[in-house]
Amino acid sequence: MNAVIIGGGPAGVSAALYLVRAGIDTTIFTMGPGALAKAHKIENYYGFPEGIGGQELYEAGIAQAKSLGVKIVGEEILGIAFEEKLTALSKTGRYPADAFVFATGASRLAPPIEGLKEFEGKGVSYCATCDGYFYRGRKIAVIGYTEYAMSELTELMHLAAESVLLTNGQLPEAEVPAGAFLNTKKIARISGEGRNIDTVTFEDGTEEKVDGIFVAWGSAGSAALAKKIGAVTDGNNIVTDEEMATNVPGVFAAGDCCGGLLQVAKAVRDGAVAGTSAVKYLRSLS
Ligand SMILES: Cc1cc2nc3c(=O)[nH]c(=O)nc-3n(C[C@H](O)[C@H](O)[C@H](O)COP(=O)(O)OP(=O)(O)OC[C@H]3O[C@@H](n4cnc5c(N)ncnc54)[C@H](O)[C@@H]3O)c2cc1C
Repeated sequence: MNAVIIGGGPAGVSAALYLVRAGIDTTIFTMGPGALAKAHKIENYYGFPEGIGGQELYEAGIAQAKSLGVKIVGEEILGIAFEEKLTALSKTGRYPADAFVFATGASRLAPPIEGLKEFEGKGVSYCATCDGYFYRGRKIAVIGYTEYAMSELTELMHLAAESVLLTNGQLPEAEVPAGAFLNTKKIARISGEGRNIDTVTFEDGTEEKVDGIFVAWGSAGSAALAKKIGAVTDGNNIVTDEEMATNVPGVFAAGDCCGGLLQVAKAVRDGAVAGTSAVKYLRSLS
């Protein structure tokens, strides 16, 4: 029996502590501190009379998990798939697990492009696995510049007739898949006729005609990952019950990615509940 936790912040580490101490083989995937990187000083968390820096708290959490035997892997999870078991996918590896805890923090925002929000669900999607099929044989654009964007683009290229990467002024941070067009211009707006988008207009006045746009800005956000396996989301938040279980058996979520109070204390509490619920779930399998 093993558990994979996506996220090494307070929620992910807290879940890991309960799993590993119950004898479960536990791995955390982390890309470094999430929200804690921006928290200069935390004065309202239990046990630190002088306050503690966010980076320091992150490092202490990772060290504590490691000391109890949790494996820490510094890789971004780009997708989750149903294979023989549920499997987390990184750029180079596949990691099957009997239970998962999403603890990826608050989802990143989409770039502030006019029309993007308005056309969500009308040609603008945040999930290649969920919506790519609607664009088979058509022209799609991915807005992004990171490894996650390349991963979404690669998935869509199997379906779409033409694919273009729009980096909105950023330089690509990973190799653009062969066969995809690249346009690095800054986007002014997206627009369409009635209920469907059809045009991306750049700041220099030029246009690109597209049938669908997939937003993959920054790293793979919690809601985007959860949607890939059919976990219910509400906006950017993953929906759980009081046991921190999602609607997908064996998949739990904790911390900022579930919304509510975005504080360390609540993330640690959610992680503890998710970890103990995952232990109960795993024991019910054996
Ligand atoms: C400026 C600022 C100040 C704050 N001050 C306070 C404060 O004073 N007191 C307080 O209680 N709270 C404060 N907070 C909030 C607090 O930092 C968060 O509520 C808390 O860190 C949430 O914990 P989390 O584990 O849910 O997410 P995070 O701490 O955001 O951790 C998310 C983890 O997921 C990893 N991750 C994300 N995506 C992936 C992926 N695809 N693959 C692998 N890993 C991934 C990240 O690398 C990170 O390790 C502050 C936040 C900010 C931004």
